[in-house]
Amino acid sequence: MSIVTCPNCKFLLFPFENTFKCQNGHSFDFSKDGYINLLLANQKKKNNPGDNKIMLNARNEFLSQGYYDFLIKNIESMTKSVGFFSTALDVEYYLLDLGCGTGYYTRNIFKGKRFKKIGIDISKIGLAKASKIDKDSLYIVGSAFNLPIKDNSIDLLLNVFSPINLQELKRILKPGGYYIKVIPTGDHMKQVAELVYDDFIPHQSSIQKDFKSDTTFQILKVETVKKTIFLADKDLLNFISMTPYLYKFKQDQLASLKELSVTISFEIIMWKYK
Ligand SMILES: [Zn+2]
Repeated sequence: MSIVTCPNCKFLLFPFENTFKCQNGHSFDFSKDGYINLLLANQKKKNNPGDNKIMLNARNEFLSQGYYDFLIKNIESMTKSVGFFSTALDVEYYLLDLGCGTGYYTRNIFKGKRFKKIGIDISKIGLAKASKIDKDSLYIVGSAFNLPIKDNSIDLLLNVFSPINLQELKRILKPGGYYIKVIPTGDHMKQVAELVYDDFIPHQSSIQKDFKSDTTFQILKVETVKKTIFLADKDLLNFISMTPYLYKFKQDQLASLKELSVTISFEIIMWKYK
């Protein structure tokens, strides 16, 4: 079954040889790495939208060291604890990782044949990496504001640090589907922020406000996960380079920075769509 829709006419797309085709004859080729580009030219704001190559490479290398794996474990156990899984073993779940970047969470979360996983991002560079490593998930270049996904088709929507559109979310989620959002809390990376800002004040997150007035989403869980990690050399440089903080550092300041203990802190929020 396909749940991917044609960006031109909204009919379903089906794999056919090395393409995805709709019944109106619109056809989209898989890239050599294996992702599919469903972003129409008029949806692009610039030629290579999304995070830049330096940030994506740094993120890929940093995440592959396992520093954020605890986040995946937390999300999995939260999902189990709220009774997401059916007792029937033959049920398949459609999981969408929206803003998947290099696909780190897409490929590592909920491993197993029961999961049909799709990663969507606006950046081709990230998806080239993702689809090269992970042949089990489907990676799509697409916009969060016009998702090439069928109505009421997603069981679990994961969104780690990237923008969403609430209307699109409601359109693609199944009734009773789950939405999990991960956001950094105010003190996330604060030791890095303190190096580049004279008077750093932790921000307050406000994501829950967007959903407060929307009665179709019920908050099931909110968890803060926090720890301090010691980073040195390449890992520290990657950690900084995967964020915009990179551009706040002076060249010599960054070169002389060899090690740092940093707070990593996230809020995981889980909603159920009624
Ligand atoms: Zn079409």
